[in-house]
Amino acid sequence: MTNDELSQRFAEIYGGQPEAIASAPGRVNIIGEFTDYNNGFVLPCALEFRTQVAYRQRSDNSIVAHSLQYPGQKDEFPVDRVIEPGTNQWGNYVRAVAFIIETMGVKLGGMDLLIESNVPQGAGLSSSAALEVAVGGAINAAFNLGFSPTELAQIGQSAENDFMNCQCGIMDQLVSACGQRDNALLIDCLDLTTQLATMPGDLVLLIINSNYPRKLVDSEYNDRREDCQAAADAMQVSSLRDADLSALEGAKTRLTDTQYRRAKHVITENQRVLDALDALRNSHIETLSTLMAASQMSLRNDFEVTVPATDWIVDKCTSIVGKKGAARQTGGGFGGAVVCLCQSESVEDITRKIEVEYPKATGLHADIFRCVAGDGLSITPRNHTSS
Ligand code: ADP
Ligand code: MG
Repeated sequence: MTNDELSQRFAEIYGGQPEAIASAPGRVNIIGEFTDYNNGFVLPCALEFRTQVAYRQRSDNSIVAHSLQYPGQKDEFPVDRVIEPGTNQWGNYVRAVAFIIETMGVKLGGMDLLIESNVPQGAGLSSSAALEVAVGGAINAAFNLGFSPTELAQIGQSAENDFMNCQCGIMDQLVSACGQRDNALLIDCLDLTTQLATMPGDLVLLIINSNYPRKLVDSEYNDRREDCQAAADAMQVSSLRDADLSALEGAKTRLTDTQYRRAKHVITENQRVLDALDALRNSHIETLSTLMAASQMSLRNDFEVTVPATDWIVDKCTSIVGKKGAARQTGGGFGGAVVCLCQSESVEDITRKIEVEYPKATGLHADIFRCVAGDGLSITPRNHTSS
């Protein structure tokens, strides 16, 4: 939706124009899975799918939020007392961000917010991080709080961890805040430093949502975290970031087979991310293809977070793109999406085969998104004379 259209909708709901529009993107992870909470490396890119938040300060102490994706609903809460969860799940993301900012000692005032987004929800593109970063960006700009994009990402992560009870790492929020058009962003999750790498201009970025019903995700996720920490403890390092394969071999007798394989995934995946950064920078697609295939095997056999549906999609994509492209399961696992880099002439073949064969193989229907690496958080002040 254009800024003018969103401002128009804002005026219909609240009367008058917004001060500005904050906008933050969804993301896809190219490589580096389950490494973020082990203080390792990830290599995601921001997408052109974005969540916009039009905002204006109010003279009272209430934050009022509407979302064009939830018509007829409204969330309203006071900011001059401790912010509690409300009855709207989506409104709780707004409350979560305001709550975290207030726990940092900031006293907020009232705001009118209107949310609009083309990030598909629950499709593995992290619409929640886009919302958190856009809301954080709006509050930051409205009250001149001076938070950096990295700090806004940390606020978004805390909102998800401490208010929404979802123990995600920093990747989604950081790339949503700091991503750059046409680039992937290497994030060192230990110190949150970043490096850019241009996405190969001749490849199309496809994201294929398996629509596999994700179950037991939280308990499995927590089991993996515990296994990783147990392996780090056995090697006497604070996180798997500081371990290598020889240390892992040395600790093997002190680990269960499961803990050993979980740690092996993380240690080898960290190296693959660094190698993928080089491969992208040198436009070496064949190397990227090998690295993403190795990541998939490691996720499947050692970390055990893939499912037959996503394995099927990866295998299908790989059989079509060969070494001229790459594919693997991306995101939190146990279903979710597949990321595929392919040449433009393969798009039709991939799309058709997934549309026809995937339902027969799995009984499911997949959604295919053709994407471009987009920019991170932006704030556009409303020019009152331009409407
Ligand atoms: P995802 O993988 O897309 O991040 P999540 O379950 O983590 O999936 O987050 C999706 C939730 O985020 C939605 O159920 C909703 O509560 C909230 N959300 C995302 N986008 C919007 C939006 N445009 N308007 C209101 N709420 C949104
Ligand atoms: Mg999410």
